Amino acid sequence: MQSLKELYKIGCGPSSSHTIGPERASKIFKESNPSADSFCVVLYGSLAKTGKGHCTDEVIKKTLFPNKCEIIFNTEETDLPHPNTLDLIAYCNGVEQSRARAVSVGGGSIVFEGEEISESEHIYSERSFEQIAKICRDQDKRLWEYVAEKEGAEIFSYMQEIWSAMKNAIKRGLSDEGTLPGGLGIQKKAKMLYHSQHIDESTEIKETRMVCSYAFAVSEQNASGERIVTAPTCGAAGVLPAVLYYQQQKRGYSDEDIVRALMTAGLIGNLIKTNASISGAECGCQAEIGSACAMASAALGELFGLDIDKIEYAAEIAIEHHLGLTCDPICGLVQIPCIERNAVASMRAINAVNLSSFLWNTRRISFDRVVQTMKETGKDLSARYKETSEAGLAKIRLQ
Ligand code: SF4
Repeated sequence: MQSLKELYKIGCGPSSSHTIGPERASKIFKESNPSADSFCVVLYGSLAKTGKGHCTDEVIKKTLFPNKCEIIFNTEETDLPHPNTLDLIAYCNGVEQSRARAVSVGGGSIVFEGEEISESEHIYSERSFEQIAKICRDQDKRLWEYVAEKEGAEIFSYMQEIWSAMKNAIKRGLSDEGTLPGGLGIQKKAKMLYHSQHIDESTEIKETRMVCSYAFAVSEQNASGERIVTAPTCGAAGVLPAVLYYQQQKRGYSDEDIVRALMTAGLIGNLIKTNASISGAECGCQAEIGSACAMASAALGELFGLDIDKIEYAAEIAIEHHLGLTCDPICGLVQIPCIERNAVASMRAINAVNLSSFLWNTRRISFDRVVQTMKETGKDLSARYKETSEAGLAKIRLQ
């Protein structure tokens, strides 16, 4: 498995696989073709079908600017290495100089055809929760300590940067107003949610309102193309910061405590990315929101000092109850159902960790097994429900 730096990335929304990934691919390709004076980028699969709504064309043109760039949306080709495939072609005086095929594998990561991830980039030799848990038990370590040992001391400052970016996205989102871009006419709601306190509001209702307002804040920033952190993706970026920010506000956890929780959450995200997928185009929304919920429940488990079995169970519950969740954003915009879904998943993460602390010794399914199930379910899911905007909610035409 690669570093958590490959999982948590600071970038602009609204989609890690449709904006951050293609942006990185374009930047690398542009740098390797310094004499090119124009480009053509062909988008395939999900990139072609929801690329407009996700602003893929805009971000590519911006990255390749000032060179001219033609974008072709090819929705016909089906023989693809991955649902998020793009071809980049460089020209000089109208003559083709070079071309490359890249796939945007989710969470903003890019793999160019023919380029394998080198062994040195795999800083974690273990690939399953079971293997990692054994090491932690044998050496009496917490999960975040295992991460620190593999990543080295600099991971703490990187994670601090990640946490600051998450907090900034929440703060910006809570003060932002107006309509989201894209034409659906959806109002930003985080600020209203944060301030709409009832006189006789119960503690439980207040918790729901606060957590959800934080999740809305980040998700609305993402939908507006603002800076957020992939956790593990842009579309699911609101879940993890929402639950952690709420706990910090409520119980006064230090930034160091939160950083450790983010490290444990990152390990969960990395295992899912390695053994299944975090891409909505590959496995549906279970891979994005389900993964974010698992990361958030594990983060809470770390923050609350739960032992490794309870953390595993919390993450397993979180994935299990998102199995089969489809990706069907209306008009290909990361707005409906995405924004509200982040808020609901945040509450589910809290429920999952609470349930695990009571029932952990009754569990029958391991985290590794449910991740495998998620992958299989994702493969079985019709392509119409995997970020193509061809079915489900995407068929609804809003007035
Ligand atoms: S429905 Fe889920 S996977 Fe699809 S774009 Fe929205 S958040 Fe991402």
